[in-house]
This record gives sequence, structure tokens and C-alpha cells, in this order.
Amino acid sequence: MNIDYSICNAIKHAANGIDNSLVIYDVGCQWNLHFAECINNCSGLSLPDNTEIVAAVGKFHLSAHKLLCFARYSLNFIVGAGQVDGEILETLWAPFNKISPTARSMSQAHHQEILDDHMWNSNWKKLVGIGEWVYLE
Ligand SMILES: [Zn+2]
Repeated sequence: MNIDYSICNAIKHAANGIDNSLVIYDVGCQWNLHFAECINNCSGLSLPDNTEIVAAVGKFHLSAHKLLCFARYSLNFIVGAGQVDGEILETLWAPFNKISPTARSMSQAHHQEILDDHMWNSNWKKLVGIGEWVYLE
């Protein structure tokens, strides 16, 4: 239910008239089976008209799924998916392991602030560093 609610609201917030959404989720193959049914049966869930969702599983998690999932949910075979791995939070695990011992003894509020600061810093570094990866003629 929480993931359904999150996805519905994310699409409503960010779609801006775009009808197709690619949802990359660790268990997208299972989630996708009943999502439409959940939307129809829950008054709190809705999507903009004409929304089409393509479910995928990120590359890190896909290797732990059945072989059948690879063909159906791999980002390698989804037209328009581009070259993404579908894993965002997992890329933060290694750097967060370095701050984890320090943050462990903090109050919950301070702990959250430290994690937020490091996530913002990581996002900032990605943003300013993206120029190295973009080739413009
Ligand atoms: Zn699967």
C-alpha cells in the first residue's frame, strides 16, 4: 500500500502531461502484478488519465530474481529506458558505511540531519560532476 501510494503521488506530481512512466523497483515484477487492481479497489489511490506504467527491476536486484524476470523486467530490454542501473539508494551504501559509526551514537534527530546532509552533498557532487559525463558538440 505505501509503495502504491508513493508511486501514484510521484506520478501525479511529476508527470506533467507525460503519459508513460517507468517504475524501477526492487520487486517490480511482483508489485506490477496487482498494482492496477489496487488502484481500482482503493479510493485513496489514483493516477492521471492515460497513464501507462512500465515496471522494471534495477540491475543490482534483478540478479536475485528468477531467470524469467530478466527478460521481462531488465532495463536492457525496455525501449526508452536508456542506460541506467535503476539503483539510487544502493549507491550511497558504501559512503554511508564511513559515517555510520559516528552517526550511530547520535540522537535520532541528529542522526537524520547527518544522513540528510550527506545525501545532499552526494547529490550536489553528482550535479556538478555531471558535466564530465555529458558530451556536447
Ligand atoms: Zn522477479
